[in-house]
Amino acid sequence: MIVDYHTHTALCKHGEGTVDDYVRRALALGLDEIGASEHIPMPDRFDEVHRMTLEQYTSRYAPEVSEAAERYKGTIAVRRGIEADFYAGTEPWVRDFIDENDFDYVIGSVHFLGEWGFDNPVFLHRYEERDIDATYEQYFDTVARSAKSGLFDIIAHCDLVKKFGHRPTKSMRDPIQAMMEAIKKENLAIEINTSGLRKPVREPYPGPEILAVARQLQVPITLGSDAHTPNEVGADFDVAAALLEQYAGGRISVFEKRQRKEVPIRHLRNAAFPTPSAH
Ligand code: ZN
Ligand code: FE
Ligand code: FE
Ligand code: ZN
Repeated sequence: MIVDYHTHTALCKHGEGTVDDYVRRALALGLDEIGASEHIPMPDRFDEVHRMTLEQYTSRYAPEVSEAAERYKGTIAVRRGIEADFYAGTEPWVRDFIDENDFDYVIGSVHFLGEWGFDNPVFLHRYEERDIDATYEQYFDTVARSAKSGLFDIIAHCDLVKKFGHRPTKSMRDPIQAMMEAIKKENLAIEINTSGLRKPVREPYPGPEILAVARQLQVPITLGSDAHTPNEVGADFDVAAALLEQYAGGRISVFEKRQRKEVPIRHLRNAAFPTPSAH
């Protein structure tokens, strides 16, 4: 089994293509499942420039995913996911939204430390204004709290704070251990997210130190490209498959109606996997 559970579309305003475009690409690559995981609508116009509206969720996203699932039945499984932000104060709204909709999985993401959208290039200068070790500690602690929120099935890109190549100056062993223990205790999966290879840091999320802790604690792992264009579906999945062999015993987590199971990973021909250039 091989799946891509982390994809976006033009609905997020910083992506391209329709759900159907992503499914056709996944089908061409020979994936077994493709999941749509558009950025969740949020209350009070929160970060509305990077996400669909609630109205678009209802009138476009939800029906497009359902129609694709129906259209491709018997060839590829189309899963209905969502990438939900963990942001203080919005938890009740997010909880209600998730409860009211039939997702196959919910990916939980930390994209903000306080008000700071730390993975947004527009606010890159803020790294220079802060202590990098404190930023890393705050990040891992926030991810741990996101795991404990009970909202999510999969913890996204769990070292996203490295995106632009900033590295801590001291060991992050303890905060990483605490984060991974929280994820394990809540019975969540993490993802190997290959989009980091297309960013300045040039490595998948998470890196080897976190993956080693995941292996030791037997944290289940799933897979996503975080594609924002259809040609990024399955990007660098040969690299990801090797990591799943090394750190997840050759198993991958798959989801249906928010039920998880671990199944053996299926390797495709290396040539099938695109390696889009960084942008
Ligand atoms: Zn996005
Ligand atoms: Fe994200
Ligand atoms: Fe994403
Ligand atoms: Zn993401």
